[in-house]
Amino acid sequence: MQYSPVLNKLFCQLAKTCPLHIKVSTFPPAGSIVRAMAVYKKSEHVADVVKRCPHHERSSDFNDGTAPAEHLIRVEANQQACYISDNRHSVTVPYERPQLGTNSTTILYNFMCNSSCMGGMNRRAILTIITLETPQGNLLGRRSFEVRVCACPGRDRKTEEENLKKTASSGRETQKAVAPTSSSESAKRSSAETSSGNENGPYVLQIRSLKHYKILKYQLEAMECLDSSSSSSSNNNNNNNNNRRENQTSRWSQRLARH
Ligand SMILES: [Zn+2]
Repeated sequence: MQYSPVLNKLFCQLAKTCPLHIKVSTFPPAGSIVRAMAVYKKSEHVADVVKRCPHHERSSDFNDGTAPAEHLIRVEANQQACYISDNRHSVTVPYERPQLGTNSTTILYNFMCNSSCMGGMNRRAILTIITLETPQGNLLGRRSFEVRVCACPGRDRKTEEENLKKTASSGRETQKAVAPTSSSESAKRSSAETSSGNENGPYVLQIRSLKHYKILKYQLEAMECLDSSSSSSSNNNNNNNNNRRENQTSRWSQRLARH
């Protein structure tokens, strides 16, 4: 297992243990849970549920009944893991305070398909979203990171980090050229969006179908996660923090749920 702070990306092998360390600034209320959910990174796939491929779902390997066979993300060695299969697949565990002498809580995750699995992820990039929620379902914190499940995590991490370096050095000028001007930005907005007179949002959409609402909500969450993960990876860059685990732990943002 390898975590790349600069890419904010976990590289791991199928079914191998991935420890995630959770640090909080203040302890959440009793009964709070930690949820892990995978979503597709690209907006055109974000409405699809991330699940295992038909081959791995039916295979007898790793299917001993401890977790639903179709779930990509599992929690290892935790009797209280709870698998939810409604609109999206997710797995929750009760939040536990850090053990004496430590400052973080560790949860062991497994990813049960390769990113390349046909009929499953099918080479589509995924994000894992970790949320801390109160017993009433209110969001206390959220972090996300990209995940690639592959045969050679070390090699793939190196390749992707080198590619990033190349594009970062060659892309600076291009970025300047395509940066939208404020006038083209505002021209794109519909009259409904600007009717509040507030250029900085928040914007309000009226959605008549619950199904559409849920799809758009997940899309929004994924986009916000992408925004927050790109800003956190540049922070990591600046800090030049060599402690991989420290970075992976990801301090919780104190964003409140807007339900
Ligand atoms: Zn698979």
